[in-house]
Amino acid sequence: MLIVMKADATERDIAEVERVITELGFRPHTMPGASRTAIGITGNEGPVDVTRFETLPGVAEAIRVTKPFKLVSLDLRPEKTVVRVGDAEIGGDELAIIAGPCAVEDREQIFAVAEAVRRSGARFFRGGAFKPRTSPYAFQGLGEEGLKLLAEVREATGLKIVTEAVDEASADLVEKYADVFQVGARNMQNFSLLKRAGRARIPVLLKRGLSAMLEEWLLAAEYVMAEGNYNVILCERGVRTFAQHTRNTLDLAAVPAVRRISHLPVVIDPSHGTGKNHMVTPLARAGVAVGADGLIIEVHNHPERARSDGAQSLNLEQYEQLVREVRAIHDVLAPAPVG
Ligand code: PEP
Ligand code: MN
Repeated sequence: MLIVMKADATERDIAEVERVITELGFRPHTMPGASRTAIGITGNEGPVDVTRFETLPGVAEAIRVTKPFKLVSLDLRPEKTVVRVGDAEIGGDELAIIAGPCAVEDREQIFAVAEAVRRSGARFFRGGAFKPRTSPYAFQGLGEEGLKLLAEVREATGLKIVTEAVDEASADLVEKYADVFQVGARNMQNFSLLKRAGRARIPVLLKRGLSAMLEEWLLAAEYVMAEGNYNVILCERGVRTFAQHTRNTLDLAAVPAVRRISHLPVVIDPSHGTGKNHMVTPLARAGVAVGADGLIIEVHNHPERARSDGAQSLNLEQYEQLVREVRAIHDVLAPAPVG
């Protein structure tokens, strides 16, 4: 159920609808919009009695939601969500660029890459301190020490930190040190982690699972939002197919497909999406052309020595060139206002 308020509904009208929802034992999710406020209801297993709301002051209509998702959907918020991260944003007019190494390795590496990322004008720095590796013998990340280095990068450059949490313990640390809480592809259906992300005070970047359907991915976002965290960014990072020429198959059609259903911003990760250095820039261009709100790019000062994902990492020069190219494409699609 979704309660749509009239354009002239007052704060008191909204508070009264929220009170009734709570009294019924459900949870209200209030989404102010450009022309009206909508209030989503979660916690109900069966239908909610529409008549309970229709007569309340300020209510325009009570709509029964038949789709499996409520909070991620355009019914709740017809305009796009802009996720604010301090003074930076994802989903607004500017193309968001999230760049950095796959994993935090050491101080020298992280600062060399961060300096190039800052110079490029990007606002976000990525780097894993907790790495969900396929093999238990592969480099697992520096843990809290890595997060401390990331916090130093933020201090020195002003870049916002995007980093992955893999479980409850790392979630507490990520929330303490970072600006955006990344949920990795392998954890897209780790429901307890999704709920934990939903209780985080920072935005969540939710990667699409390796074999997740669009609906499953959006329902994973719904888990986060149902806990009260509405700042979710979706990330398409490629899915498993029979193709052997790439590490994953980057599903660019996911961008317009999500747009049809959801107000959440979508970013493209052509690094994991292709797994190959020479394919990252062409697919980054395509991601911007298809309308993505941003890109995640793996960059390393010495890709040949990277402790993880070196084959898909761009060197600093390649990264700088990529940023010039994708900005040019973005400007053609959405020219910056003159003056
Ligand atoms: C990563 O961003 O380094 C990562 C592990 O990504 P994914 O979860 O998409 O594999
Ligand atoms: Mn990686």
